[in-house]
Amino acid sequence: YFSEIYDNIDEKTMIKNDKKYIIGTYGRYGIVPVKGYGMIVEDINGKKYKDFLAGIGVNNVGHCHPEVVKTLQKQAELLIHTSNLYHIIPQVQLGKKLVELTGMDKAFFSNSGAEANEAAIKLARKHGKNNNIGEGEIITMEHSFHGRTLTTITATAKPAYQEGYEPLPKGFKYVKFNDIEALKEGISNKTTAIMLEPIQGEGGIHIADKEYLKGVRDICNDKNIVLIFDEVQCGMGRTGKMFAYEHYNIKPDILTLAKALGGGAPIGATIATEEVATAFTPGSHGTTFGGNPLACSASYASVRVLEGLLENTQNMGEYFITELNKLKNKYGFIKEVRGIGLMIGIELSFNGGDIVKKMLEKGYLINCTSDVVLRFLPPLIVEKTDIDGLINALDEVFSEI
Ligand code: PMP
Repeated sequence: YFSEIYDNIDEKTMIKNDKKYIIGTYGRYGIVPVKGYGMIVEDINGKKYKDFLAGIGVNNVGHCHPEVVKTLQKQAELLIHTSNLYHIIPQVQLGKKLVELTGMDKAFFSNSGAEANEAAIKLARKHGKNNNIGEGEIITMEHSFHGRTLTTITATAKPAYQEGYEPLPKGFKYVKFNDIEALKEGISNKTTAIMLEPIQGEGGIHIADKEYLKGVRDICNDKNIVLIFDEVQCGMGRTGKMFAYEHYNIKPDILTLAKALGGGAPIGATIATEEVATAFTPGSHGTTFGGNPLACSASYASVRVLEGLLENTQNMGEYFITELNKLKNKYGFIKEVRGIGLMIGIELSFNGGDIVKKMLEKGYLINCTSDVVLRFLPPLIVEKTDIDGLINALDEVFSEI
């Protein structure tokens, strides 16, 4: 049936049929990708794009990494799915690997970032209930993003994601990010957990201060509040360390991962300390596909590859940020360059939508988040020449403005 899917198709028909058959939740650029390898995405007409977005931080190992492909193929031939009623080898192996890497204790697997956060919120509340911690209230941060399910849009402190979906789940409160006083004011005897991204992605690449995050950890320790880090976007090597919290010398009680965890395969993980993890018992939570052999094998291979890409991420991140700062010196409309490792944004004094389109024409995939922040999340295999090419293209586009 593969040929039935792929043979005799063309760009125009695909775009037309997309509008006809797919519910229009996404504003799409008129590109039909068919192939990916390393830094490159090729479209149906054979046009090659250098990918500086990596599926918004999914393809950290690069497109179709041979180790991930081989592992996926072998697993697909062996066993695609049975059920979580049994002991699934790739699930347990991946759990062991993530526990070793985080120094935390136990993992639960789901299929996306939103689901990983749903599990984190449920786990924190159950643990809170069992231990008389607050009344289930979760404090989250302004400009955060935690997903698109009803609960995670509620955790996401942005009305645009919530409007029209009321009534929303109760028990969320929002405070200013990177502001310890605001957090202290927000905490009450209702507070069970605090949830944040150490580096906000969708919010426009905002990096938590060292003192702030340490302060948050101290408050949680003092008050027995559960600390949840959403590393769906900033985890898995993106910042030059496997997990963003490693830059801060602290740990959360619950960590959520997804996106790059699977090297392109859909998987989410909720990792917790023993103390918190025990709040889930048989029947507490579950999902049919969570931890299935296919996603977990792909993920295991991806994690092993990512371990070897951290140094390149640090080096290329520094180089990239230096080069972007040179552009900042040249163009007054660049307000700020922010980044850590290869999670980088440049804030403009205007909407960056047109720049994204012009960069697409030049063969570069980037995007714009929070209206004014151009975001760069290249695969962690990116090389200097790739960065030089992107900087030149950006320079040309900027000079035309
Ligand atoms: N958390 C963060 C920090 C994210 O960036 C995203 C996705 N952009 C999510 C959660 C939701 O992940 P998913 O789309 O896989 O549900």
